[in-house]
Amino acid sequence: MRVSQLLMPTLREVPAEAEVISHQLLLRAGFIRKAAAGVYTLLPLAWRVVRKIEQIVREEMDRQGGQEIMMPIIQPAELWQESGRWDVYGPELFRLKDRHGRDFCLGPTHEEIITALIRGEINSYKQLPLLLYQMQNKYRDERRPRFGLLRGREFIMKDLYSFDRDEAGLDVSYNKMYEAYTNVFNRCGLNFRPVVADSGAIGGSGSHEFAVLADSGEVNILYCSDEECGYAANEERAEAVPPAAGEKEPLLELKKIQTPGCRTIEEICLYLKLTPQKMIKTILYQTEKETVAAMVRGDREVNEIKLYNALGCVRLEMADEKIVRDATGAQTGYMGPVGLNGIKLVADNEVMLMVNGIAGANEDDHHLANVNPDRDFKPHMVKDIRLVKAGEPCPNCGEALLEARGIEVGQIFKLRDKYSKVLGATFLDENGKAKPFVMGCYGIGVTRTMAAAVEQNHDDKGIIWPVQIAPYHVIVVPISNKDQEQVQTAEKLYQDLVAAGIETVLDDRPDRAGVKFKDADLVGYPFRITVGSKGLAEGKVEFYSRCKGEVAMVPLNNIVETVR
Ligand code: ATP
Ligand code: MG
Ligand code: MG
Ligand code: MG
Repeated sequence: MRVSQLLMPTLREVPAEAEVISHQLLLRAGFIRKAAAGVYTLLPLAWRVVRKIEQIVREEMDRQGGQEIMMPIIQPAELWQESGRWDVYGPELFRLKDRHGRDFCLGPTHEEIITALIRGEINSYKQLPLLLYQMQNKYRDERRPRFGLLRGREFIMKDLYSFDRDEAGLDVSYNKMYEAYTNVFNRCGLNFRPVVADSGAIGGSGSHEFAVLADSGEVNILYCSDEECGYAANEERAEAVPPAAGEKEPLLELKKIQTPGCRTIEEICLYLKLTPQKMIKTILYQTEKETVAAMVRGDREVNEIKLYNALGCVRLEMADEKIVRDATGAQTGYMGPVGLNGIKLVADNEVMLMVNGIAGANEDDHHLANVNPDRDFKPHMVKDIRLVKAGEPCPNCGEALLEARGIEVGQIFKLRDKYSKVLGATFLDENGKAKPFVMGCYGIGVTRTMAAAVEQNHDDKGIIWPVQIAPYHVIVVPISNKDQEQVQTAEKLYQDLVAAGIETVLDDRPDRAGVKFKDADLVGYPFRITVGSKGLAEGKVEFYSRCKGEVAMVPLNNIVETVR
């Protein structure tokens, strides 16, 4: 490719709307242009990077036995109504109607579509396990689309779904994906960490986030200073530990959780991946002034879930709840769900987590009738749970915990029978018994990974692409395009490099050398070859490595070998 022909509209100024470095640099270096808030056109350089990341992802998915498919972006509302998500997904779901007035949405994720597909196509345990994935545009009407490609409303995601016959099979699939994700981000040349993620429910299903370390990241990671231990957790999920002896009990307002885009308790629950379902153990209730959700500690069994009252509140019947009777058999007390963890909606997009408040009562259901956090959740009753902080001992090995910021580029998640059950997707086991598929879902943000790579690899001159995902590997720059020897040598080098399979760009523009160097640094080509008269007099050209910042004079006939 010749720079004179390349659609790479660079900007001198830092665009005012861009807050983070990847957004600024991808705009300035001519990789992306905005079409609407959170919606971007990917210009040639960006598209090359995306295709490289996709190819790495594809190879690692295929290596684990993944099969690539392509599901529709437009999804019928019926499926979402069947799963119950049409009503709870909230305003992040792009909804639309066809000409007949039928409801559809643009896929933010594909659990419904794929579970319905498998429900119809797979009926025997012999056909399992199954790993299916796609690479596709996803749509989420984020309340605050920002940071360019980091949080778009249209973005590219790889999403894989695993179907297994049992929990042991799910573990195998999950571990395969854990390995695949580790390979993907290593191959992309990124510094990242898999962190234990908050999968919503207390004591809920397994999940890891893969976070690229960068100061601009929105995820706060606590990780062990002992590399061999390897413990790392999203701060929200950091293990709860009891306070040390003599230490003051933490206050009620232990932690604020950001829940961007959430205005109703349904949205908050969805955001926190809470649903009033058996495994999730969530109680929702509403008082006059506020909406409150309470989660029952994860070690307790839930027997049954009932709609509790007209406000749509949900009541969970605990396995260990019992009515306390005296010797005559009369009811004197009721042991209800003590040990509630409360979430209180304090602002439009903010909830407060109250730890171990107790909303007990001595009468059946009384504790759920009108629970009031100030009356029923006594602050002084808060005890024995708090979140680990940096500097404290690692819950795994006892070494000190360190803190870092990260960008969530991927997440893997054990869904178990969450979708297969509600959508009635079952297979027959060896004994001819119908069982729901045991599922997992696994996402990688492809466009977000590109932006995260820039967040992690740049300097004050521009982007420094890891070679593996660079749009081109080498740029050849003649210092003067009036000097025929330079021009011809550059042209010959360019041809030789391309012939050797090296992705090369020739800066054939009539601009000053300074302009060309500036653009090359801004775009972030890993290697630059500069052709100048001085070097040519000795049969040499200058070889510059952008990431090492090193310059060397290399004989012309060695250049292809040097780049390789
Ligand atoms: P976040 O917490 O940043 O909102 P998420 O947890 O909602 O992300 P997932 O549902 O786990 O995202 O989707 C899988 C992956 O898709 C994420 O790990 C991320 O890399 C990517 N992704 C999610 N939302 C966006 C977005 N708005 N723009 C770009 N990529 C995104
Ligand atoms: Mg999100
Ligand atoms: Mg997330
Ligand atoms: Mg996620």
